[in-house]
Amino acid sequence: MSQVQRMSRLMVKTLRDDPADAETLSHKLLVRAGYVRRTSAGIWSWLPLGKKVLDNISRVVREEMDAIGAQEVLLPALLPREPYEASGRWEEYGDLLFRLKDRKGADYLLGPTHEEIFTQVVKDQCTSYKDLPVMLYQIQTKYRDEARPRSGVLRGREFQMKDSYSFDTTDEGLVESYALHRAAYQKIFARLGLDFRIVSAVSGAMGGSASEEFLAPAAAGEDTFVDCPACDYAANTEAVTFAATVPAAVEPGPVEELDTPDTPTIETLAAHLGVPASATLKNLLVKIDGEITAVGVPGDREVDLGKLGEHLAPAVVELVTAEDFEDRPELVRGYVGPQGLKIRYIADPRIALGTAWITGANKPGTHARNVVCGRDFEVDDYLDVVVVEEGDPCPACGTGLKLDRAIEIGHIFQLGRKYADTFQLDVLGQQGKPVRVTMGSYGIGVSRAVAALAEQSADEQGLCWPREIAPADVHVVAAGKALQTELALDVSEQLSAAGLRVLVDERPGVSPGVKFTDAELIGVPKILVAGRRSAEGVVELKDRRTGEREELTVAEAISRLTA
Ligand code: ATP
Ligand code: MG
Repeated sequence: MSQVQRMSRLMVKTLRDDPADAETLSHKLLVRAGYVRRTSAGIWSWLPLGKKVLDNISRVVREEMDAIGAQEVLLPALLPREPYEASGRWEEYGDLLFRLKDRKGADYLLGPTHEEIFTQVVKDQCTSYKDLPVMLYQIQTKYRDEARPRSGVLRGREFQMKDSYSFDTTDEGLVESYALHRAAYQKIFARLGLDFRIVSAVSGAMGGSASEEFLAPAAAGEDTFVDCPACDYAANTEAVTFAATVPAAVEPGPVEELDTPDTPTIETLAAHLGVPASATLKNLLVKIDGEITAVGVPGDREVDLGKLGEHLAPAVVELVTAEDFEDRPELVRGYVGPQGLKIRYIADPRIALGTAWITGANKPGTHARNVVCGRDFEVDDYLDVVVVEEGDPCPACGTGLKLDRAIEIGHIFQLGRKYADTFQLDVLGQQGKPVRVTMGSYGIGVSRAVAALAEQSADEQGLCWPREIAPADVHVVAAGKALQTELALDVSEQLSAAGLRVLVDERPGVSPGVKFTDAELIGVPKILVAGRRSAEGVVELKDRRTGEREELTVAEAISRLTA
């Protein structure tokens, strides 16, 4: 079968202008180059070129999953409520879940991820330790009613995910299945030509390396991560734990009250007193499982609620409300200090024993100076809870960290026995007793990877795919009339016969300029032009990425491309 795709037959309508609602480069280019079209908010139709790229990514993912011994299955996207009710996620997902009813009024959902259903399948299929370990995967459509489905296919409400799940009888087995996935993901993203980092997704609080994210640095990314310019350290901002530089202890005088009217914020206070914000102690009030708690950090730092939540999980952390203040007159909004307060006090390690601070005096319009940790107040728990900032020291090498944007393209997770407990997933062990199974879950955003690749590889002219992922290996352009068209088609057939996937632009009545512009926009990595010197059998071979061009005979061009 011929692999030559004629542009005149291809359903593609390129656009010169960016779609009005597009904010990210990948969104603009994938629409302009005719890869995808928006059907509704966060819901995309994949047109022929886009489908090819999507399939190429799926193929790479499939090959590497098969290579680690994972077995492909296909589970439904339309799911009954009960298993998700059992795991608690019918509620937990909140507005993110698409819920629907059948004609009898029974509740269903469109699967956002499939831990529950895979657990049930394995419970049904595997009964003995001899049936394990097993790793299953699918490449399937997922549904999440995302709050802001912007950025094109980067964040869809319907999207393609490869999700896999591992089932082991021992903790060591889970660690091994996790390691296999981690290595497979490294291969997959390398083959896709993505620049990526692996970061720990959570801080130590929930079990260290039990969850890692694969991030593709890109300006359009919605995740912020820290990247060390000097060593290979990279981390999710919420997972950075750095050794705080503790201010030197001083020998201060007694606590002194200061009249500081209208200074409820650190900025107003620091300006009023003419001191740096770092000399002040900021106390954020939160509720931990309903119990009001103060969190102290130096005035120039912010509290990272995500980090705090992770340290304290499974306790629920919320901000206090106006009503909470009404019930507690001793808590003076804007003027809270830890001295004399009878609530739990969590602090950043910088609030070390012996350090002295300017902080609230627990009276309206009043602050206190020389408030000394250990003398005037006690810290109940020291936790690393500040928002990491550009320039903070790298925990590995001490160099100032950079903050960068990235796209989460994959996530691997040691789940443990959570779902196995819910569904009583046991197998008969070697000793004849039931053994509870331990699980891992692993995701790759297949449709998101299309956008991530576009973000990382595109330039002003358009898309620019790595060869393995591109919709064709070579884009042949007939830049002229009958002679050029004849040569273009002839070269195309020869390339195809040599096993290459060829896209040939032989559209009659379309100017060479338009054809060149479209070729750059579509982003096939090699462009072969039959132009001025067609009569001599000389063509031009252009590299889409570098822009390098060479005049070659047809034979030379073919051997260059098939090398
Ligand atoms: P995000 O934080 O970006 O919302 P997530 O952490 O909720 O993602 P996971 O549940 O870990 O996502 O899903 C596995 C993978 O699926 C993600 O790493 C990402 O690549 C992809 N993914 C998640 N949500 C979407 C979406 N709305 N559109 C496209 N891909 C998505
Ligand atoms: Mg994730």
